[in-house]
Amino acid sequence: MSFKSAPHFINGDWVNEGDLGESVNPANDAVLGRYHSGSAGLVAEAARVARQTFFGSNWSQAPRQRAQALFEFADRMDARKDEIINLIVAENGKLRSEAFGEVMGSISETRYYAGLARNIRGTMQELMPGQMSLFHREAAGVAGIIVPWNAPVTLLIRSLTPALAAGCTCVLKPAQQTALTHALIMECLRDCPSLPKGVVNSINDNGIEVGQAIVASPDIDVISFTGSSATGKKIMAGAAPTLKRVGLELGGKAPAVIFSDSDLDLAVRELTHGALTMAGQICVAAARFLVQESVLQEFQARIAAAFAAVRVGPGVDPVSQMGSMIDRANVARVQRLIERAGDEGDLVLRGDTLNTGAFLTPTLFRIDDVSSSLVQEELFGPIVSIETFTDEAEAVAKANATAYGLAASVFTRDLNRAVRISRMIRAGTVWLNSHLRLAAEAETGGFGQSGLGRLHGPEGLYDFMETKHIYMEQGQV
Ligand code: NAD
Repeated sequence: MSFKSAPHFINGDWVNEGDLGESVNPANDAVLGRYHSGSAGLVAEAARVARQTFFGSNWSQAPRQRAQALFEFADRMDARKDEIINLIVAENGKLRSEAFGEVMGSISETRYYAGLARNIRGTMQELMPGQMSLFHREAAGVAGIIVPWNAPVTLLIRSLTPALAAGCTCVLKPAQQTALTHALIMECLRDCPSLPKGVVNSINDNGIEVGQAIVASPDIDVISFTGSSATGKKIMAGAAPTLKRVGLELGGKAPAVIFSDSDLDLAVRELTHGALTMAGQICVAAARFLVQESVLQEFQARIAAAFAAVRVGPGVDPVSQMGSMIDRANVARVQRLIERAGDEGDLVLRGDTLNTGAFLTPTLFRIDDVSSSLVQEELFGPIVSIETFTDEAEAVAKANATAYGLAASVFTRDLNRAVRISRMIRAGTVWLNSHLRLAAEAETGGFGQSGLGRLHGPEGLYDFMETKHIYMEQGQV
């Protein structure tokens, strides 16, 4: 581990300023290290540096240099991947295999955007003979990037690398729970010779002062935020006085629709993984099982057996199949939800704590009342509702019955039905006969209250770019 106390990072230098907060291993309550907590004053300094770098260097007009810097960044993370993986497991509590996937996917995504940096093209249109319009795609300016703790490397990389590829400079804010992991990634960035000082700046916080200051800053042009829908609404309101563009990747309540003709072995396998990866603390986790009535008993028995068989334990232990939650407060929060699920519905499998750490075994509950907040709200833990439907129309109506629209999955052997239903579900991603497949190449984002804009893929660049129209007339230039 590199840091016992994670500093801020401004203009290429570490800044050790502000009170110290503790980073705790949720699997055993051990204090892993500390992080400095920043302030609005530090944000103002970081934003000023980022703005000066944007206007005072040729970064935004040097796509080959940006590609080179991103390749160097990927190489640095690759060289230190074991350290990063171990730190994610320790700080976040997830499985080693999950942290491995997170880091390898992030390295791959950094290389993907390194390639795209050299392929940003505008267009030209001849309006009338001799009248030319050039449509130039250029960097939006300074990007403020605020990320949560559940996938601290993936969620940073998927905003930071398109921002850098597009030519932006950045001010970042990690989640306090994963400040040490974030500092290690900053150390990888600091070692990149092609990345000018001041392009990336980062401020930690143990509260919301830093995030709020980033959103309000007159020196920051666009915000890329990943977190809950409740915070996303505050970000949007906070960005209004300066009319910043906001990209919002928010909460989800992904339904998995299981038709009677589906391969139930496949559905149970995919949905155990889809619901319980990262102890269910993932925005696109399968959170509602919508089951056609004729296969309810069989599916329910099989999925309950699969959930009950999942070995919950420390992420470092290779036999564990589900790691811990992020902290004990979240375990207590989900335990209260389990009580309510027992009151409002029927508990099919009741989750329980282990003797140590922030562990909670999986819960399944049957519920028919779609209006219940247990169905309407994101529960963000290893807890899934089982609901039923009779026909396609009811399946679609129920799948679309929440304010969220981030992801969904459909299980059926009928390809026509699979495509038909996927078109009718209001979600940014629909997986067919699978759940939880993410790729650097494939855009993700939300309908409804799951967000605005898209990350990953070529469209991931759009949040960080503006289109400029340059007009010229023959004989005038
Ligand atoms: P959160 O909204 O509480 O916090 C996210 C980040 O915002 C943190 O860095 C936090 O410190 C900061 N923040 C909190 N209040 C703020 C404010 N008023 N102004 C500025 N910044 C503020 O979310 P969380 O609990 O850390 O993360 C879990 C949530 O993130 C879940 O809702 C999950 O679905 C969502 N999420 C969404 C995606 C996606 O791709 N859509 C991905 C991962 C997580």
